[in-house]
Amino acid sequence: MTAYRTDATNAAEMDKNDPLAPYRDQFHIPETKAGDACIYLCGNSLGLQPKATETAIQQELTDWKMLGVEGHFHAKNPWMPYHEFLTKPLAKLVGAKPSEVVAMNGLTVNLHLMMVSFYRPTSTRYKIVIERGAFPSDRYAVLSQLQFHGFDESGLIELTPRAGETTLRTEDILSTIKAEGESIALILIGGVNYYTGQYFELKKITAAGHEAGAVVGFDLAHAVGNVPLELNAWGVDFACWCSYKYLNSGPGSVAGCFVHERHANADVPRFSGWWGHDKQTRFKMGPEFHATQGADGWQLSNPPILSMAAVKASIELFDKVGMDALRDKSLKLTGYMEFLLDSLKSEAFTVMTPREPAERGCQLSIVVKKEGRKTFDALTEAGVICDWREPDCIRVAPVPLYNSFSDVHRFVTIFSEHLA
Ligand SMILES: *Cc1c(COP(=O)(O)O)cnc(C)c1O
Repeated sequence: MTAYRTDATNAAEMDKNDPLAPYRDQFHIPETKAGDACIYLCGNSLGLQPKATETAIQQELTDWKMLGVEGHFHAKNPWMPYHEFLTKPLAKLVGAKPSEVVAMNGLTVNLHLMMVSFYRPTSTRYKIVIERGAFPSDRYAVLSQLQFHGFDESGLIELTPRAGETTLRTEDILSTIKAEGESIALILIGGVNYYTGQYFELKKITAAGHEAGAVVGFDLAHAVGNVPLELNAWGVDFACWCSYKYLNSGPGSVAGCFVHERHANADVPRFSGWWGHDKQTRFKMGPEFHATQGADGWQLSNPPILSMAAVKASIELFDKVGMDALRDKSLKLTGYMEFLLDSLKSEAFTVMTPREPAERGCQLSIVVKKEGRKTFDALTEAGVICDWREPDCIRVAPVPLYNSFSDVHRFVTIFSEHLA
């Protein structure tokens, strides 16, 4: 355990000894009106822009300008197989084989595509397990799938913390799965909950789900690029994530999807499109659909290259740094923020995110007991970019790729000055 101190010198020392510190300079840090760097703690909503992104997108614009349709084969990064440039680094990030991942669509779209194939309810086994307080889009998507199959909200099992607690206990998740076992068709929870920052025990949940005879999928929007993942080894059936939060690929950029290799040739219904067709024969333009093996077979449309260029530029940074080094710094950086918050010894707020580092990513969700919105507005005024969730929660995410220990120190200092 690192021995932290509360003085600013300690932050400067840790920045000096931080092997990832040079990466901060590879990002554009937003500035305040006065021209100072903001303290950006909002990478859980929209990651910052890597400096390499502009060049990467410009390359595609230039190739389009110079080559027109020929760019599909003759662009510097040919557009035809463009999504394949992302496969290896994406696979590495989520602990998958390259054939198990694909970059495509948006996150909620991918959730639906996965449920079309892997939510196969029967009259007795039809329920879907989600976490209460799941991201609204996930709840909407899941409920609409239930309705599509003729069920209603009673088919939803929402995992709920015990009275007086804010996060879920793994033992309670597992016992619910066991108790409801035969009625559960699908478990679909976040890898890291967007509100509380809780990182669920995905391996145990997957095993319990399979034991109960259910399919297990995860929404990794807040997990990918944030916490270590081993989707293949854990046996997860499918997973989806967006690329604009911790993956820094720009607003609404192309999402990702994982399908476990045991489903590579699964005889399941799927909504098909030409880009999922076997690529050897795709351009024979035949009337019958033959899926490409693996996750690629779930693609529908030819991909948006400009957006993928942003994903490519960003993911190459992750590939260079590696999740081990990122997680290592993340544990120190978030641990440091927790230490400084605790050292305030204040009754004015609590941290709802689990205290156990293994049960969280980089985000801390701070519950401000009185006038939280005022505190948040004061933070904004002082050049801190973080986020406010009704009714009383300030979420802050020190991101190991571009945040510094000094960022964290300055944030806690400003925060302490504006508590009611
Ligand atoms: C950010 C987020 C979304 C957003 O969905 P989009 O389809 O990318 O707009 C959905 N679910 C979770 C859990 C999220 O964190």
